[in-house]
Amino acid sequence: MKTGTSYFAVRIPRHVAADMDLLVRDGFSYVCHTFSENDMAFYHPTMKEILRITRDKGLETYLDPWGVGKVFGGEAFSNFVGSNLDALQILSDGKPAGLACPMHPKFRAFMKQWIESAAELQPDVLFWDEPHFSVGTWVGDRKGQWGCRCDICKAHFHERFGFDMPNERTPEVHAYLEWAIHDFLSYVIAEGAKCGMRNALCLLPHEDGTHGAVDNWSNFGAIKGLDIIGTDPYFDLFGTGLDQVEQYSKRVQQAADEHGIESEVWFQGFKIASGREPLQAQAVDIAAAAGISRLAVWGFEACDHLGWIRPDNPQLLWRTFLDKFAELQSAAAR
Ligand SMILES: [Zn+2]
Repeated sequence: MKTGTSYFAVRIPRHVAADMDLLVRDGFSYVCHTFSENDMAFYHPTMKEILRITRDKGLETYLDPWGVGKVFGGEAFSNFVGSNLDALQILSDGKPAGLACPMHPKFRAFMKQWIESAAELQPDVLFWDEPHFSVGTWVGDRKGQWGCRCDICKAHFHERFGFDMPNERTPEVHAYLEWAIHDFLSYVIAEGAKCGMRNALCLLPHEDGTHGAVDNWSNFGAIKGLDIIGTDPYFDLFGTGLDQVEQYSKRVQQAADEHGIESEVWFQGFKIASGREPLQAQAVDIAAAAGISRLAVWGFEACDHLGWIRPDNPQLLWRTFLDKFAELQSAAAR
């Protein structure tokens, strides 16, 4: 069993080093560093230093294409989107949206650059976080609209189904979008593996295309070059319950077992109201009982520094995760 956390926003190596020491002290096995387009353009040498520091402390390292093209999860803005107006997703209202189309060759070429830039930092793992087409509920998206209906997607759809792509999100549209995300992931994961890195995938924990989620997890677990399959059932954020953690932990573990790869579940270390911290400890127990081999929290110190999702009591929430992880690790060692 390994435990991990994400880490972002700090780009001053001596501060990062001090924080990595804390993570080592608290028994963490790995750290997911975000590597946004801003990092890629302006902090590449600094990130190289940060990765080296993390590695030297004995921690396994992930790199996350945080908000890259806005196709992946994460707060970071995308310069690709502002600079490539011909490679954006077109929504069902016929207008472009502020995110790249994963089927556009220009965006794929950019992802190859991102992967090569990431490889220079020598991470162990590339973390493909929440890849998605446009959904009307995310920051900056247009409510009620879906994508992508660009010419490339329309042509792919016609080729697969033999008729024009409808304007409604029909079962065929849903099937197309899932196929297209799979095709895109197969591309980036193959490129990552070619550059000598392992690959982890985090799928959104929903049904029927809600928030852009996919259905056939086994099919995603089968992607050549994938080493870790995971999900992030943030039941508190989604207003669901611990059932969601159990259901999706089992689904992840099943896909991992089927394809002989590792499993991972992320826990909500942010935006938790006072008094609800113990539910997160229960979520960790549920995932561990399902056999999940990597337990991770988003993010460092329960996102105390990320104001818009700061929990009511960051110290208590972080301590809740630390205690639960320590308890599970000592139980596993016995
Ligand atoms: Zn498209």
